[in-house]
Amino acid sequence: MTNALRTRAVHAGRDDLTDLGLHAVPLDFSTTYPSRDSAAEARRIDEFSAGGEVSGIYGRVSNPTVERFERALAELEGFDHAVAFASGMAAVSACLLSAASQGKRHVVGVRPLYGSTDHLLTSGLLGTEVTWAAPGEVPAALRPDTGLVFVETPANPTLTELDVKALVDACGDVPVLVDNTFATPVLQRPGRHGARLVLHSATKFLGGHGDVMGGIVACDAEEAARLRGIRFATGAVLHPLAGYLLLRGLSTLPLRVTAASATAAVLAERLTQHEAVTAVHYPKLGGPLVAFEVAGDPHALIAAVRLITPAVSLGSVDTLIQHPASLTHRVVAETDREENGITQGLIRLSAGLEDVEDLWHDLDQALKAC
Ligand SMILES: *Cc1c(COP(=O)(O)O)cnc(C)c1O
Repeated sequence: MTNALRTRAVHAGRDDLTDLGLHAVPLDFSTTYPSRDSAAEARRIDEFSAGGEVSGIYGRVSNPTVERFERALAELEGFDHAVAFASGMAAVSACLLSAASQGKRHVVGVRPLYGSTDHLLTSGLLGTEVTWAAPGEVPAALRPDTGLVFVETPANPTLTELDVKALVDACGDVPVLVDNTFATPVLQRPGRHGARLVLHSATKFLGGHGDVMGGIVACDAEEAARLRGIRFATGAVLHPLAGYLLLRGLSTLPLRVTAASATAAVLAERLTQHEAVTAVHYPKLGGPLVAFEVAGDPHALIAAVRLITPAVSLGSVDTLIQHPASLTHRVVAETDREENGITQGLIRLSAGLEDVEDLWHDLDQALKAC
């Protein structure tokens, strides 16, 4: 019998602790792993270079605390492997480099995407070339050198949803990457619908307390080997303390996401009734994020909140509010923003764990200010 997600979130990555006589996860800060047997180390390095999963050697090859977080997230997303990085953008970069390393430099992207992801693809900084397409136009945009189809659902910041299964079916052999940062495995497991890579900015809900940065990609063994090789070569490793905190964050992920989603649903409903609000975007899937549009001055709204934290990022215990056109999506050209619903009046809110009435009271008084 496979355990429910809430159970797995608590026990994943920790299955061996009782036999080790431990309760908390061991935190290993080693940067290097001594060995008196260099010949054996040479064989292990060769094995790693050939794509094998190797522990020890050096902190840029592996870390046991980080490996526990990787095993846990892979389990929650329903994959055999996951590879962790220093941030969500380091994870995005590694996925692009992985496609490019196979001679596939072309990426098809569905907008909107997180601002920095959009910027990385648009700028071609890593030698990739992007074609932007609506979900239904993706098959026509595919080329022989397309290495990745890159999507978010619900998308940042408009919370637009797309049908992952239909997209995967339409893409044939071309791998689909779903950035699952917003939904988390609590609400959606894109691997079930055939997504080959599932990416997270672990900085958000996985960590959950706004105090740790990280990124992670769940995938199959072959892709994991490539991503570990890229992480070793480029150095964007996750710090062991971050691995520890992220694993701890996973144990409360289902409770936090469920509670924040219930709050967000109430706020979304009340926002639709509010006279200062012209549109509310709340996903059919549910979830802890709400986007809404105001006719008045969005800057005045942000300046007026007192309980809610006016800040970028999301997925923390406290409720966060931000103006995407000024902040998260500032790096996207204005015309591209406008064409993809990131209007001047759009506000994005990430519900936290506060009492919903306290949040509404704050939001309502701030809306009056705009
Ligand atoms: C924040 C975010 C990222 C980038 O993650 P960092 O940890 O900030 O590097 C990528 N995708 C989405 C959807 C995000 O919200």
